[in-house]
Amino acid sequence: MNVLTARLLEGGSTTLSSAEIESLRSRISGSVVLPHDATYDDDRRLWNGMFDHHPALIVLCQSADDVVEAVRFCRARNLLVAVRGGGHNVAGLAGADQAVTIDLSRMRDVHVDPALRRVRVEAGALLGDVDRATQAFQLVVPTGVVSAG
Ligand SMILES: Cc1cc2nc3c(=O)[nH]c(=O)nc-3n(C[C@H](O)[C@H](O)[C@H](O)COP(=O)(O)OP(=O)(O)OC[C@H]3O[C@@H](n4cnc5c(N)ncnc54)[C@H](O)[C@@H]3O)c2cc1C
Repeated sequence: MNVLTARLLEGGSTTLSSAEIESLRSRISGSVVLPHDATYDDDRRLWNGMFDHHPALIVLCQSADDVVEAVRFCRARNLLVAVRGGGHNVAGLAGADQAVTIDLSRMRDVHVDPALRRVRVEAGALLGDVDRATQAFQLVVPTGVVSAG
């Protein structure tokens, strides 16, 4: 059964079956959110509320392995992809209508190496996450001042 329409990278659209969606779900530890799901409106919301994108589906990744699976899924079907990190890009570039959102907002780990004065930050982290982790070592990354940005 075809359940939803998704845009192709080079124009036009395709349909995705429930079997394809279920197959993706079974291969990731995160979740796949569809337009009829209760959390869809919250999950698609970006910081800049002027942008009201309605993605075909949202892959909420928990790990790098999930990201790999999501990319493979989209690449095999030539689907239009929007990557979402913190969702704070002012131009709303973390979403697009009928695209697949590869959502990294659950991936917020921050690892500080105080000896090297180096920090590794997952793509969904916000500045507050970085500041909390670095300040424990009296270090700071001169990025910005808005903790939720
Ligand atoms: C209130 C506010 C305060 C801020 N303050 C600061 C500050 O003090 N200092 C500072 O440096 N910045 C600041 N910013 C900017 C903010 O930090 C940047 O918008 C942020 O770094 C963007 O990262 P993000 O993870 O939120 O991106 P998201 O909004 O998640 O955007 C995703 C990114 O991925 C890209 N992308 C999407 N799809 C694809 C694709 N298919 N292929 C390749 N790339 C893709 C998009 O172009 C976009 O850049 C502020 C923003 C806000 C809203």
